[in-house]
Amino acid sequence: VALDKGLEKTKEGFLSKITKAVAGKSTVDDDVLDNLEEVLVTSDVGVTTTLKIIERIEARVARDKYLSTAELHGLLRDEIQLLLAENNSNDFRNFEYGQHKPYVIMVVGVNGVGKTTTIGKLANKLKAENLKVVLGAADTFRAAAVEQIKLWGERVGVRVVAQAMGSDPASVAFDTLQSAVANQEDVVIIDTAGRLHNKVGLMNELGKIKNVMQKVVPNAPHEILLVLDGSTGQNAFEQCKQFTEATDVNALAITKLDGTAKGGVVIGISDQFKIPVKYIGVGEGVDDLQLFDKKAFVDSLFN
Ligand code: GDP
Repeated sequence: VALDKGLEKTKEGFLSKITKAVAGKSTVDDDVLDNLEEVLVTSDVGVTTTLKIIERIEARVARDKYLSTAELHGLLRDEIQLLLAENNSNDFRNFEYGQHKPYVIMVVGVNGVGKTTTIGKLANKLKAENLKVVLGAADTFRAAAVEQIKLWGERVGVRVVAQAMGSDPASVAFDTLQSAVANQEDVVIIDTAGRLHNKVGLMNELGKIKNVMQKVVPNAPHEILLVLDGSTGQNAFEQCKQFTEATDVNALAITKLDGTAKGGVVIGISDQFKIPVKYIGVGEGVDDLQLFDKKAFVDSLFN
Protein backbone atom coordinates (compact mmCIF):
# COMPACT_ATOMS: atom_id res chain seq x y z
CA VAL A 1 0.00 0.00 0.00
CA ALA A 2 1.41 3.34 -1.04
CA LEU A 3 -0.11 4.97 1.99
CA ASP A 4 3.05 6.90 2.72
CA LYS A 5 2.31 9.11 -0.21
CA GLY A 6 0.41 12.14 0.84
CA LEU A 7 1.06 11.71 4.53
CA GLU A 8 4.62 13.01 4.53
CA LYS A 9 3.71 16.25 6.24
CA THR A 10 1.82 14.59 9.05
CA LYS A 11 4.56 12.08 9.47
CA GLU A 12 7.41 14.63 9.52
CA GLY A 13 5.49 16.82 11.92
CA PHE A 14 4.60 13.97 14.21
CA LEU A 15 7.95 12.22 14.33
CA SER A 16 10.05 15.34 14.70
CA LYS A 17 7.75 16.66 17.42
CA ILE A 18 7.94 13.38 19.33
CA THR A 19 11.69 13.36 18.97
CA LYS A 20 11.76 16.86 20.45
CA ALA A 21 9.36 15.87 23.21
CA VAL A 22 11.79 13.27 24.52
CA ALA A 23 15.03 15.13 23.76
CA GLY A 24 17.63 14.68 26.48
CA LYS A 25 15.49 12.24 28.44
CA SER A 26 16.01 8.53 28.85
CA THR A 27 12.88 7.80 30.83
CA VAL A 28 9.30 8.93 30.51
CA ASP A 29 8.58 11.43 33.28
CA ASP A 30 6.01 14.17 33.81
CA ASP A 31 7.86 16.57 31.50
CA VAL A 32 7.91 14.04 28.69
CA LEU A 33 4.20 13.35 29.19
CA ASP A 34 3.42 17.08 29.14
CA ASN A 35 5.41 17.49 25.94
CA LEU A 36 3.75 14.48 24.39
CA GLU A 37 0.34 15.83 25.27
CA GLU A 38 1.21 19.02 23.45
CA VAL A 39 2.45 17.11 20.39
CA LEU A 40 -0.81 15.19 20.15
CA VAL A 41 -3.00 18.23 20.65
CA THR A 42 -1.08 20.27 18.07
CA SER A 43 -1.32 17.36 15.61
CA ASP A 44 -5.11 17.72 15.95
CA VAL A 45 -5.70 14.41 17.67
CA GLY A 46 -8.18 16.32 19.83
CA VAL A 47 -8.14 16.85 23.59
CA THR A 48 -10.35 13.92 24.60
CA THR A 49 -8.41 11.34 22.61
CA THR A 50 -5.08 12.89 23.62
CA LEU A 51 -5.96 12.55 27.31
CA LYS A 52 -7.02 8.97 26.73
CA ILE A 53 -3.64 8.16 25.16
CA ILE A 54 -1.71 10.01 27.88
CA GLU A 55 -3.64 8.19 30.62
CA ARG A 56 -2.82 4.84 29.09
CA ILE A 57 0.86 5.70 28.97
CA GLU A 58 0.75 6.97 32.56
CA ALA A 59 -0.87 3.71 33.63
CA ARG A 60 1.93 1.80 31.97
CA VAL A 61 4.57 3.94 33.69
CA ALA A 62 2.82 3.45 37.05
CA ARG A 63 2.66 -0.30 36.52
CA ASP A 64 6.26 -0.81 35.41
CA LYS A 65 7.65 2.08 37.52
CA TYR A 66 9.78 2.84 34.50
CA LEU A 67 9.40 3.39 30.78
CA SER A 68 12.34 4.29 28.61
CA THR A 69 11.79 6.95 26.00
CA ALA A 70 12.98 4.37 23.47
CA GLU A 71 9.98 2.21 24.35
CA LEU A 72 7.61 5.14 24.10
CA HIS A 73 7.40 5.00 20.29
CA GLY A 74 6.26 1.42 20.25
CA LEU A 75 3.75 1.97 23.02
CA LEU A 76 2.33 5.05 21.38
CA ARG A 77 2.02 3.24 18.11
CA ASP A 78 0.16 0.34 19.74
CA GLU A 79 -2.19 2.66 21.60
CA ILE A 80 -3.03 4.63 18.46
CA GLN A 81 -3.63 1.48 16.49
CA LEU A 82 -5.93 0.22 19.25
CA LEU A 83 -7.98 3.40 19.08
CA LEU A 84 -8.33 2.99 15.34
CA ALA A 85 -8.92 -0.76 15.56
CA GLU A 86 -12.03 -0.23 17.64
CA ASN A 87 -13.70 1.41 14.68
CA ASN A 88 -12.15 0.25 11.51
CA SER A 89 -14.10 -2.68 10.15
CA ASN A 90 -14.11 -2.30 6.43
CA ASP A 91 -11.74 -2.06 3.59
CA PHE A 92 -12.11 -2.03 -0.11
CA ARG A 93 -11.40 -5.71 -0.56
CA ASN A 94 -14.14 -7.04 1.70
CA PHE A 95 -16.52 -4.34 0.72
CA GLU A 96 -20.28 -4.63 0.67
CA TYR A 97 -20.69 -3.53 -2.90
CA GLY A 98 -21.66 -6.97 -4.09
CA GLN A 99 -24.29 -7.50 -1.40
CA HIS A 100 -26.82 -5.01 -2.68
CA LYS A 101 -27.64 -4.14 -6.24
CA PRO A 102 -27.51 -1.30 -6.63
CA TYR A 103 -25.35 -0.41 -3.64
CA VAL A 104 -26.34 3.15 -2.77
CA ILE A 105 -23.97 5.69 -1.27
CA MET A 106 -25.26 9.07 -0.12
CA VAL A 107 -22.42 11.54 0.23
CA VAL A 108 -22.72 14.38 2.73
CA GLY A 109 -20.47 17.19 3.89
CA VAL A 110 -20.15 20.96 3.68
CA ASN A 111 -18.97 22.80 0.58
CA GLY A 112 -15.28 22.90 -0.11
CA VAL A 113 -14.29 19.83 1.86
CA GLY A 114 -13.65 17.84 -1.32
CA LYS A 115 -16.98 16.09 -1.69
CA THR A 116 -17.20 16.23 -5.49
CA THR A 117 -13.55 15.32 -5.95
CA THR A 118 -13.96 12.35 -3.60
CA ILE A 119 -17.03 11.17 -5.53
CA GLY A 120 -15.10 11.37 -8.80
CA LYS A 121 -12.11 9.50 -7.39
CA LEU A 122 -14.32 6.87 -5.79
CA ALA A 123 -16.26 6.34 -9.02
CA ASN A 124 -12.97 5.81 -10.76
CA LYS A 125 -11.80 3.24 -8.19
CA LEU A 126 -15.06 1.32 -8.37
CA LYS A 127 -15.06 1.35 -12.13
CA ALA A 128 -11.57 -0.13 -12.02
CA GLU A 129 -13.09 -2.97 -9.95
CA ASN A 130 -15.42 -3.62 -12.91
CA LEU A 131 -18.44 -2.16 -11.16
CA LYS A 132 -20.99 -0.15 -13.13
CA VAL A 133 -21.30 3.20 -11.43
CA VAL A 134 -23.77 6.06 -11.80
CA LEU A 135 -23.59 9.45 -10.12
CA GLY A 136 -26.57 11.55 -9.02
CA ALA A 137 -26.12 15.32 -8.94
CA ALA A 138 -28.46 16.00 -6.04
CA ASP A 139 -26.54 19.06 -4.86
CA THR A 140 -28.86 21.22 -6.93
CA PHE A 141 -28.27 24.24 -4.72
CA ARG A 142 -25.16 25.37 -6.57
CA ALA A 143 -24.91 25.39 -10.37
CA ALA A 144 -21.18 24.78 -10.06
CA ALA A 145 -21.75 21.57 -8.13
CA VAL A 146 -23.84 20.06 -10.93
CA GLU A 147 -21.32 21.13 -13.58
CA GLN A 148 -18.42 19.81 -11.56
CA ILE A 149 -19.90 16.39 -11.06
CA LYS A 150 -20.71 16.17 -14.76
CA LEU A 151 -17.08 16.95 -15.54
CA TRP A 152 -15.93 14.19 -13.19
CA GLY A 153 -18.39 11.83 -14.88
CA GLU A 154 -16.85 12.58 -18.26
CA ARG A 155 -13.36 12.36 -16.89
CA VAL A 156 -13.74 8.90 -15.37
CA GLY A 157 -16.32 7.64 -17.87
CA VAL A 158 -19.39 7.12 -15.68
CA ARG A 159 -22.98 8.19 -16.23
CA VAL A 160 -24.32 11.22 -14.37
CA VAL A 161 -27.99 11.91 -13.68
CA ALA A 162 -28.72 15.62 -13.28
CA GLN A 163 -31.60 18.05 -13.43
CA ALA A 164 -31.70 21.82 -13.61
CA MET A 165 -30.16 23.81 -10.80
CA GLY A 166 -32.65 24.46 -8.02
CA SER A 167 -34.68 21.32 -8.74
CA ASP A 168 -35.66 19.02 -5.90
CA PRO A 169 -32.64 16.98 -4.70
CA ALA A 170 -34.95 14.12 -3.72
CA SER A 171 -36.27 14.01 -7.26
CA VAL A 172 -32.74 13.74 -8.66
CA ALA A 173 -32.00 10.92 -6.21
CA PHE A 174 -35.22 9.15 -7.24
CA ASP A 175 -34.39 9.43 -10.97
CA THR A 176 -30.85 8.23 -10.40
CA LEU A 177 -31.92 5.13 -8.47
CA GLN A 178 -34.67 4.28 -10.92
CA SER A 179 -32.39 4.46 -13.90
CA ALA A 180 -29.68 2.51 -12.03
CA VAL A 181 -32.16 -0.30 -11.42
CA ALA A 182 -33.31 -0.20 -15.05
CA ASN A 183 -29.71 -0.27 -16.30
CA GLN A 184 -28.62 -2.89 -13.77
CA GLU A 185 -25.87 -0.68 -12.46
CA ASP A 186 -23.94 -1.79 -9.39
CA VAL A 187 -23.21 1.37 -7.42
CA VAL A 188 -25.06 4.66 -7.13
CA ILE A 189 -23.29 7.64 -5.61
CA ILE A 190 -25.53 10.57 -4.71
CA ASP A 191 -24.04 13.99 -4.04
CA THR A 192 -26.00 16.20 -1.63
CA ALA A 193 -25.85 19.87 -0.71
CA GLY A 194 -25.60 19.23 3.03
CA ARG A 195 -25.80 22.86 3.94
CA LEU A 196 -25.26 23.33 7.64
CA HIS A 197 -27.71 26.22 7.85
CA ASN A 198 -29.38 24.54 10.79
CA LYS A 199 -29.59 21.03 12.08
CA VAL A 200 -33.31 20.57 11.63
CA GLY A 201 -33.10 21.83 8.05
CA LEU A 202 -30.25 19.46 7.29
CA MET A 203 -32.04 16.58 8.97
CA ASN A 204 -35.20 17.20 6.94
CA GLU A 205 -33.33 17.62 3.68
CA LEU A 206 -31.35 14.40 4.06
CA GLY A 207 -34.35 12.59 5.53
CA LYS A 208 -36.44 13.43 2.50
CA ILE A 209 -33.77 12.19 0.10
CA LYS A 210 -33.55 8.93 2.07
CA ASN A 211 -37.31 8.39 2.05
CA VAL A 212 -37.55 8.92 -1.67
CA MET A 213 -34.60 6.57 -2.30
CA GLN A 214 -36.36 3.87 -0.31
CA LYS A 215 -39.31 3.97 -2.68
CA VAL A 216 -36.97 2.53 -5.29
CA VAL A 217 -34.45 0.55 -3.22
CA PRO A 218 -36.00 -0.41 0.15
CA ASN A 219 -32.89 -0.32 2.37
CA ALA A 220 -31.08 2.53 0.63
CA PRO A 221 -28.79 4.28 1.32
CA HIS A 222 -26.47 1.46 2.32
CA GLU A 223 -23.73 3.91 3.03
CA ILE A 224 -23.87 7.48 4.27
CA LEU A 225 -20.41 8.80 3.63
CA LEU A 226 -19.39 12.00 5.40
CA VAL A 227 -16.54 13.87 3.75
CA LEU A 228 -14.35 15.95 6.07
CA ASP A 229 -11.39 18.18 5.25
CA GLY A 230 -8.49 16.84 7.32
CA SER A 231 -6.64 20.14 7.20
CA THR A 232 -9.36 21.97 9.15
CA GLY A 233 -8.69 20.33 12.49
CA GLN A 234 -11.35 21.27 15.01
CA ASN A 235 -13.82 22.27 12.28
CA ALA A 236 -13.77 18.70 11.05
CA PHE A 237 -14.67 17.50 14.57
CA GLU A 238 -17.52 20.00 14.76
CA GLN A 239 -18.86 19.03 11.33
CA CYS A 240 -18.68 15.38 12.25
CA LYS A 241 -20.71 16.12 15.36
CA GLN A 242 -23.37 18.01 13.45
CA PHE A 243 -23.74 15.53 10.61
CA THR A 244 -23.81 12.49 12.87
CA GLU A 245 -26.58 14.16 14.86
CA ALA A 246 -28.52 14.90 11.68
CA THR A 247 -28.21 11.54 9.91
CA ASP A 248 -26.86 7.99 10.29
CA VAL A 249 -23.35 8.52 8.98
CA ASN A 250 -21.65 5.13 8.77
CA ALA A 251 -18.46 5.90 6.85
CA LEU A 252 -15.95 8.74 6.70
CA ALA A 253 -13.68 10.11 4.00
CA ILE A 254 -10.99 12.46 5.27
CA THR A 255 -9.49 14.60 2.52
CA LYS A 256 -6.50 16.90 1.95
CA LEU A 257 -4.18 14.97 4.22
CA ASP A 258 -1.40 15.65 1.71
CA GLY A 259 -1.37 19.35 2.46
CA THR A 260 -1.35 19.20 6.23
CA ALA A 261 0.68 18.10 9.22
CA LYS A 262 -2.60 17.62 11.06
CA GLY A 263 -3.30 14.02 10.09
CA GLY A 264 -3.87 13.33 13.78
CA VAL A 265 -7.44 14.34 13.10
CA VAL A 266 -7.97 10.84 11.69
CA ILE A 267 -7.11 9.33 15.08
CA GLY A 268 -9.28 11.67 17.14
CA ILE A 269 -12.34 11.52 14.92
CA SER A 270 -12.10 7.78 14.57
CA ASP A 271 -11.90 7.39 18.35
CA GLN A 272 -14.59 9.86 19.29
CA PHE A 273 -17.26 9.05 16.74
CA LYS A 274 -16.66 5.29 16.36
CA ILE A 275 -17.29 5.50 12.65
CA PRO A 276 -14.83 3.80 10.31
CA VAL A 277 -12.63 6.00 8.19
CA LYS A 278 -13.00 4.31 4.83
CA TYR A 279 -11.07 6.62 2.56
CA ILE A 280 -8.43 9.26 2.77
CA GLY A 281 -7.76 11.91 0.14
CA VAL A 282 -4.11 12.63 -0.47
CA GLY A 283 -4.14 14.91 -3.49
CA GLU A 284 -6.23 16.48 -6.22
CA GLY A 285 -5.62 13.84 -8.88
CA VAL A 286 -8.00 11.07 -9.86
CA ASP A 287 -5.82 8.42 -8.23
CA ASP A 288 -5.31 10.29 -4.98
CA LEU A 289 -7.90 8.43 -2.96
CA GLN A 290 -6.71 5.64 -0.72
CA LEU A 291 -8.46 2.98 1.23
CA PHE A 292 -7.83 3.59 4.85
CA ASP A 293 -5.81 0.83 6.39
CA LYS A 294 -5.14 1.45 10.08
CA LYS A 295 -1.93 -0.51 10.22
CA ALA A 296 -0.48 1.16 7.15
CA PHE A 297 -1.55 4.52 8.55
CA VAL A 298 0.14 4.00 11.90
CA ASP A 299 3.22 2.56 10.19
CA SER A 300 3.45 5.60 7.98
CA LEU A 301 3.38 7.87 11.04
CA PHE A 302 6.20 6.10 12.83
CA ASN A 303 8.48 4.70 10.14
P1 GDP B 1 -16.76 20.24 -2.59
O1 GDP B 1 -17.21 21.67 -2.60
O2 GDP B 1 -16.86 19.64 -1.23
O3 GDP B 1 -17.41 19.41 -3.63
O4 GDP B 1 -15.20 20.28 -2.86
P2 GDP B 1 -14.38 19.97 -4.18
O5 GDP B 1 -14.44 18.54 -4.50
O6 GDP B 1 -14.78 20.93 -5.24
O7 GDP B 1 -12.91 20.29 -3.67
C1 GDP B 1 -12.52 21.56 -3.21
C2 GDP B 1 -11.03 21.75 -3.52
O8 GDP B 1 -10.28 20.83 -2.74
C3 GDP B 1 -10.68 21.48 -4.96
O9 GDP B 1 -9.73 22.42 -5.37
C4 GDP B 1 -10.07 20.08 -4.92
O10 GDP B 1 -9.14 19.86 -5.96
C5 GDP B 1 -9.41 20.09 -3.57
N1 GDP B 1 -9.24 18.74 -3.00
C6 GDP B 1 -10.20 17.78 -2.82
N2 GDP B 1 -9.65 16.68 -2.23
C7 GDP B 1 -8.34 16.93 -2.05
C8 GDP B 1 -7.23 16.20 -1.48
O11 GDP B 1 -7.34 15.05 -1.00
N3 GDP B 1 -6.02 16.83 -1.46
C9 GDP B 1 -5.86 18.10 -1.96
N4 GDP B 1 -4.64 18.64 -1.88
N5 GDP B 1 -6.86 18.81 -2.49
C10 GDP B 1 -8.09 18.24 -2.54
